[in-house]
Amino acid sequence: MIQKELSEQTKKDLKGYFENRDYMVIAVPKSEPARVYVVKATNTVETARRVHNLSPGATVALGRAIVGALLLTSLVKHATDQKVLLKIEGNGPIGTIVVEADGKGRVRGFVENPQVETYTKEVNGKRKFDVSKIVGNEGTLTVVKELRMGTPYTSVVPLISGEIAQDLAYYFAQSEQVPSAVGIGVLVDSDGRVRQAGGFLVQTLGGISDKVVDLLEHRVNSLPPVTELMEEGKRPEDIATMILEDLKPQLVGLKEVEYYCPCDEEVAKSSLLLLSDSELEDLFAEGPAEVVCRFCGRVYRFNKEDVKKG
Ligand SMILES: [Zn+2]
Repeated sequence: MIQKELSEQTKKDLKGYFENRDYMVIAVPKSEPARVYVVKATNTVETARRVHNLSPGATVALGRAIVGALLLTSLVKHATDQKVLLKIEGNGPIGTIVVEADGKGRVRGFVENPQVETYTKEVNGKRKFDVSKIVGNEGTLTVVKELRMGTPYTSVVPLISGEIAQDLAYYFAQSEQVPSAVGIGVLVDSDGRVRQAGGFLVQTLGGISDKVVDLLEHRVNSLPPVTELMEEGKRPEDIATMILEDLKPQLVGLKEVEYYCPCDEEVAKSSLLLLSDSELEDLFAEGPAEVVCRFCGRVYRFNKEDVKKG
């Protein structure tokens, strides 16, 4: 694990190395038990938009869930294949949202209704996406942790807002018993393209002093929205430093983030093998069958002979 001071030189190195790429930084105060995760996922969310041909409303909703799932990788071992699945089933018109991310920063997702109508609302005189209306403010948020081969751990909490960031903070407090603050933002251009996407997660751990808890709370509450900071050119390490100012921030983790789907012919074929013989008969009655990956849209074609069992 890396551990180095989040100094001006470190920041310069990161900027030089990552340029326009997406990545996550993990930072901690030098001598207090707290953790800060900040992620930039602009290209990743833009890829999702193109893969699924998302409406602006769907881009913001799935984009927030993608950033959220990346923040949830705080639950799995850094830089491993361990996975976390985020499923949001709200009563809004977008339907189910599913996102999967792993410890290496690879993420993929889809929504039930990619062309969902884009609802907006006015906040302080500005038009904003009404994500709560798109997702719904009633329903469930499910997190499945796949730590190693074997039984995955599943926990479900009710949706409390449908804005996703607040729902994740609630999840961390309820299911993981870790007091957490979550901020997520996705900014879409007038042509529908993703301009900025990112977020942060701040967690305080046992043994932390009340003074530092108060300080972090104050910092998080007075922090401008993530996308606003990103518009000003702030990078993940800059935002982490803003949150941990005066606490000697140390960089302890770093990973590149990308939209990645590991599906292949074998995975696609295995979905057909789950069907019964008569279902397969029906499927192949009119020629070859197609399996479309829900995460990346790739199409796999099989002939009847390809899926002979056993
Ligand atoms: Zn795929």
